[in-house]
Amino acid sequence: MPAAVKKASARRNPIRELVFGDLWEFDPAPETADPKLKKRYDLFINGSFVSPRSGKYFSTINPANETKIADIALADASDVDAACQAALKAFTGVWGKMPGKERGKYLYRIARLLQDHAREFAIAETMDGGKPIKESRDFDIPMAAAHFFYHAGWADKLEFLSPGRQLVPRGVVGQVIPWNFPLLMLAWKIAPALAAGNCVVLKPAETTSITALKFGEICQEAGLPNGVVNIVSGAGETGSAVINHPLTSKVAFTGSTEVGKMIMRSLAGTEKKMTMELGGKAANIVFGDAPLDQAVEGIVNGIFFNQGHVCCAGSRLLVQESIAEEVLAKLKRRIAVLRVGDPMDKNTDLGAINSREQLTKITELVQSGVKEGAEMHQSACRLPTKGFFFKPTIFSGVSMSHRIAREEIFGPVLSILTFRTPEEAVEKANNTPYGLSAGVWTDKGSRILKMSTLLKAGVVWANTYNKFDPTSPFGGFKESGFGREGGKQGLLDYLKVA
Ligand code: NAP
Ligand code: MG
Repeated sequence: MPAAVKKASARRNPIRELVFGDLWEFDPAPETADPKLKKRYDLFINGSFVSPRSGKYFSTINPANETKIADIALADASDVDAACQAALKAFTGVWGKMPGKERGKYLYRIARLLQDHAREFAIAETMDGGKPIKESRDFDIPMAAAHFFYHAGWADKLEFLSPGRQLVPRGVVGQVIPWNFPLLMLAWKIAPALAAGNCVVLKPAETTSITALKFGEICQEAGLPNGVVNIVSGAGETGSAVINHPLTSKVAFTGSTEVGKMIMRSLAGTEKKMTMELGGKAANIVFGDAPLDQAVEGIVNGIFFNQGHVCCAGSRLLVQESIAEEVLAKLKRRIAVLRVGDPMDKNTDLGAINSREQLTKITELVQSGVKEGAEMHQSACRLPTKGFFFKPTIFSGVSMSHRIAREEIFGPVLSILTFRTPEEAVEKANNTPYGLSAGVWTDKGSRILKMSTLLKAGVVWANTYNKFDPTSPFGGFKESGFGREGGKQGLLDYLKVA
């Protein structure tokens, strides 16, 4: 047996061990490359890194071990003003009138540089945010580059987006993003804005600013004209200053429904164009005829990918009553072998929860599930003693009135509900203020088509889950927001009729 794999007390019950794998121990396999981090990150304004006018910085920590990584500049309203002025100057002086073919070259260059620096970015993302290295390495960073490649191709073809209408950029765009996919959310925002000819001022989330500020270094390396991209790190007030600044003619926000509503209230009556990508409480619906093993993998991916910090996470599992027991048994076996721990380890399935605040929120909602009478099943895994971690958790016996069936938990917690008929599944799936995504698992193509029409969700996956592509528009219904990101539709939101 290789030294890397140690099996404890193999003689007692080898079959049980092979089935459950709970006694297998792997040696650590940490990623060790240098993420090239700085001790202090300044604001990226007008092509340079500048200290905040207030002189204030805040710490960003590694949520897996609670150690400080770096000081991050705190931008106030005067820094945001400087960034907006720089963006306007770049828009009127250079970027807004540059031929699309030339703009496209910069986007291609950024995409290639992201690939060149992919390993460094993946490690920085994992250290700052807690997600497993295999996800930042295989999903976040390649997808961020893919968004720049895709939009680079559109930069000189905008006239084909809406034939017969002359479309022009909006000018200065204010963008605010959350912490769950820091660089990827930045790419979703910046790539289409730049391809369409706009200049941007972007505020990253407080707990995960590093890759956004490292992206400033990529802009420098790409020779992007000064002021086309400006990154202003800070807290909610910084985001509010970006959004309310008189020079931002379009506002693109991704975050919670609660903050989205506040922003909509504050911008009501202004001429600013808004797009909102907000929260979700997706139904992942499994019919009795579904390929069950495949569905179980999809359910696991749907809720445990990125520790469940996913707006479109399949957090409500709706299972047809005839197979409910079998699905629960399979899920319990599957979560028993999920590896939770050091996000930097290449074998880790679930990394750290992004912040103490988020861990508290998840813990509180899970306690409400127990109190309200649902049955909790948790993996028996041991959690690290330092850092913010939460065990993969499943609730069975959940009813529609439980908080865990209604509120977005944004953590590794699945609520299972059952249904008997397709009509009941649709009724339960749509019975939520949200409408971002949904999943359908069935053997029947006609049922997939019917369900995808009836489900009030921006994205419906069939016999798969959490599949993304820059060509495919993403966005919500109802309180999950409006506007789309990705595809033609996403680009149109960054243009206006001349
Ligand atoms: P959040 O609290 O709404 O924060 C999102 C961003 O807004 C952060 O940069 C935040 O800054 C900033 N912010 C906070 N208050 C603000 C204000 N008054 N004005 C302007 N900006 C403000 O959300 P979160 O907890 O970071 O992210 C999780 C939420 O995002 C979940 O609800 C999730 O579903 C949603 N999300 C949606 C999508 C989608 O595409 N639909 C994608 C990813 C996430 P700080 O970091 O300083 O608080
Ligand atoms: Mg951090």
